[in-house]
Amino acid sequence: MQFGTPDDEVSAVDWDTFKRVCKANPEWKKMWFAKHNARIRPVKYNLVRRKHDDDPTCPCCGALETTDHTFEWDEAKMEEAFITHIAELESHLRATPSKAISDSIMETCRSIHYSKEHTLADNWDEELASTVTNQILLGQRAFIGGLWPKKWLELQRQYHTRTQNSSKSPKVWMSKTIEHTQTLFYHMWKIRNKALNKDEDSYRVR
Ligand SMILES: [Zn+2]
Repeated sequence: MQFGTPDDEVSAVDWDTFKRVCKANPEWKKMWFAKHNARIRPVKYNLVRRKHDDDPTCPCCGALETTDHTFEWDEAKMEEAFITHIAELESHLRATPSKAISDSIMETCRSIHYSKEHTLADNWDEELASTVTNQILLGQRAFIGGLWPKKWLELQRQYHTRTQNSSKSPKVWMSKTIEHTQTLFYHMWKIRNKALNKDEDSYRVR
């Protein structure tokens, strides 16, 4: 099933998990995501608007550095951070028994980071493939912000029932999964800051 109207998209979001993740986050992370979701972090685009900078472009590629662009930087250290932390997400996902769900979430994460459509096989489970598509359509902001379709949790629950697995609650698994993806993008943000601060220092020397 694809989303129909914008209202369908919003009602398809797993608000309970979103609230659980927000509640579980430590104070600093709550602040970070509040700023992220409000698009008010000091990215170049915002700094120019606030007259703290006169160049709104990304030092790596020259594109406008908006909040969304910070997670799409095409730069070696950012890529390294992405690869390191996506491996952590993967080991969290692998601890649960559904490989198809894990692979689908991994592919969603890559699609969001590289701004591309998913490359799941044509014979991929239809429900999973459409959940991936729906998540990508909701966009990077929703994904990093923790607004994921309810379908993820439903599919994980179905899997648990089918396999009579009682090791981990699907709800807890879902929240932890979102927390891992948020940590991944948070680390990318830190790398971006480090790279830019270095630049700012060299401007000052000049
Ligand atoms: Zn760039």
